[in-house]
Amino acid sequence: MKALVLAERSETARALAAGARLMADDVVLVAIASLQVEEGTADKIVRIALPDGAVYDDAADTVISVFDAERPGLVLVEPTRRMKMIAGKLAVHTGTSVITDVMEFGVEGAKSLYFGGIAERVQKPTGEVAIYTVTADAFVDAEPSGANVTEDFAWVVPAKPLDLISSKPLEKSGTDLFKADIIVAAGRGFAEKDELDLARKLCEKIGAGLGCSRPLTEGVNWLPTEAYIGVSGVMLAPKVYVGAGISGQMQHMVGCNRAGTIFAINKDKNAPIFKQCDYGIVGDLKTILPELVASL
Ligand SMILES: Cc1cc2nc3c(=O)[nH]c(=O)nc-3n(C[C@H](O)[C@H](O)[C@H](O)COP(=O)(O)OP(=O)(O)OC[C@H]3O[C@@H](n4cnc5c(N)ncnc54)[C@H](O)[C@@H]3O)c2cc1C
Repeated sequence: MKALVLAERSETARALAAGARLMADDVVLVAIASLQVEEGTADKIVRIALPDGAVYDDAADTVISVFDAERPGLVLVEPTRRMKMIAGKLAVHTGTSVITDVMEFGVEGAKSLYFGGIAERVQKPTGEVAIYTVTADAFVDAEPSGANVTEDFAWVVPAKPLDLISSKPLEKSGTDLFKADIIVAAGRGFAEKDELDLARKLCEKIGAGLGCSRPLTEGVNWLPTEAYIGVSGVMLAPKVYVGAGISGQMQHMVGCNRAGTIFAINKDKNAPIFKQCDYGIVGDLKTILPELVASL
């Protein structure tokens, strides 16, 4: 069987290609735009260059053509917003559905979360093609391989291209959270945007990346979207996670509960996060964070 891998980031491309290697004989990675591909990632790399003025999302039609040319039985997709959209269009094209947010594969099928992360289910594909959006951590010990034979694929002009009205560089939260061993996550316990400096100081002190709960991005826009952790944000497995002013709702915790050690700071001793952490400090983050920074 052949597997197609769709990913936006090099590390995830490598991780998903490694997973695909466990499940298929041939692994083909689709590299859209300037995706860097490390040596030995896949048997074949199909490169799709974005023409001037085209937006990333318009690559869906070209990806569908790659699919038709390769005829894979398995498609593994990085669960980013743009890739999920492409996976959806591919599923419509193939007359199947996407099995989303897969966290691990077992003999019973693919395990994923639903109802915003409060329930788990195991699913098996029903059609000839299986399309999964899957977290890079699903294949921990797998190693990729392949000759990376590279082919440039001609751009397919979409029937309904998006109009690019304006663009601006994405504001980065600092450290790439996927690469961070330690993550400090800020929640709604931070009453003002300026208070985030307390978390930033702790990050500097312990070499951590700054993440957050969803309300700090989609609610108030204090941090960029890619910084929020959880079922609809990024799913991470750092060595250490420190949740400050975060209540510990399931939708957030599924994005960090595979951390090696979990610390929590919350002024409410009954906050759900205290049932999910290894170490907890009950107190006001405005007092605790400066004390921590001073004592470390
Ligand atoms: C379908 C769906 C998907 C979702 N996906 C996500 C997701 O991916 N990620 C995500 O994060 N959320 C997600 N959510 C939202 C999620 O349900 C919670 O609403 C959110 O995680 C709560 O964020 P929070 O813990 O920062 O805020 P709150 O729940 O408001 O908690 C704030 C905490 O801060 C504490 N606090 C207040 N002041 C202080 C202080 N001075 N010092 C110390 N502690 C203090 C409070 O005691 C409280 O526990 C989703 C929801 C739905 C319905």
